[in-house]
Amino acid sequence: MAFNDVEANSFHWLADMLESIEVGLVVLDLDFRVQAWNGFMENHSGITASKVRDQVLFDVFPDIPKAWLTRKVDAVALLNTRAFTSWEQRPYLFKFRNTRPITGTEEYMFQNLTISPLSGTTGEVEKVCLMVYDVTDIASGKRALERANEQLAKLSMTDRLTGLLNRGTWENLVDAEYERYRRYGHATSLVMFDIDHFKKVNDTCGHLAGDEVIKHAALITRSNLRQSDTLGRYGGEEFGIILPETDAEGARIICERIRESIEQSLVDTSVAPIQYTISMGIAQLTDAPENYMQWMQQADETLYAAKAGGRNKVKVFTT
Ligand code: GH3
Ligand code: MG
Ligand code: MG
Repeated sequence: MAFNDVEANSFHWLADMLESIEVGLVVLDLDFRVQAWNGFMENHSGITASKVRDQVLFDVFPDIPKAWLTRKVDAVALLNTRAFTSWEQRPYLFKFRNTRPITGTEEYMFQNLTISPLSGTTGEVEKVCLMVYDVTDIASGKRALERANEQLAKLSMTDRLTGLLNRGTWENLVDAEYERYRRYGHATSLVMFDIDHFKKVNDTCGHLAGDEVIKHAALITRSNLRQSDTLGRYGGEEFGIILPETDAEGARIICERIRESIEQSLVDTSVAPIQYTISMGIAQLTDAPENYMQWMQQADETLYAAKAGGRNKVKVFTT
């Protein structure tokens, strides 16, 4: 075999390999005209090499961010060095549908991209090669993990039944509000409230209907509060509210509104329509409590005074 035949032959193998490799290969001249387009690109874009050849890339793919890619390619050509971008910076350059069955959750193929300079015989950069890697598996795994972590963080802060802050989270915020008062001395009030005769609801209508009532109480209360107020589920059918910038009188007005809306509601459960009431205790913070727990105790005592006073009542703590 003559020397030239060997060369031609190995070039043929090489071309075959590049054609069938599971990486997208695109060669562009410095005017962004497509010079090479391998099988990967054909398969995923549905556009053949002969069709795209000598076309300006941006004309064929108007979705490609022109200014961004131009800047990248110019830098590669000027500095004669490779550039790399990951899917985390830009999910994809070519908008290809995700065709992998295992990662069917992602709509488009995530891509890492490498841009390499290609020099001619004079050593001048004449072309660049884009290498497009399908990283959908990695990306979707990472994104699923991130979503799961986000949900976990949310779950551990909130109560499953009502979606309100759970006791631990809410108590931390009471503590923070207590400290804020110690520093700035702004008026602030705490409310504890509890559903009246809730055992009877459970006993006559069942636990599930009871759950509906708890959800209803959470919803009505939330809808009567400001964004800056903090509602938490303290226990079974016991709730707490932090009302910043609110004195006892202001808190009483808000609580009366909540108490009344609940008294006037009918919860439409699958067992029966249920009417219920709540009792509420308010404690505006003063210098007396030595910690946030004592403040909560004041609100709790007042709640039980409201129960003792006949239920379906709002009471304000007095020394
Ligand atoms: P009071 O007016 O004095 O508050 O009477 P009550 O019957 O409501 O008494 P209490 O507040 O002590 O009762 C709480 C009851 O709430 C006891 C418990 O079985 C029920 N409970 C606690 N958590 C849940 C829950 O998540 N779902 C349901 N359905 N019931 C709960
Ligand atoms: Mg109760
Ligand atoms: Mg209770």
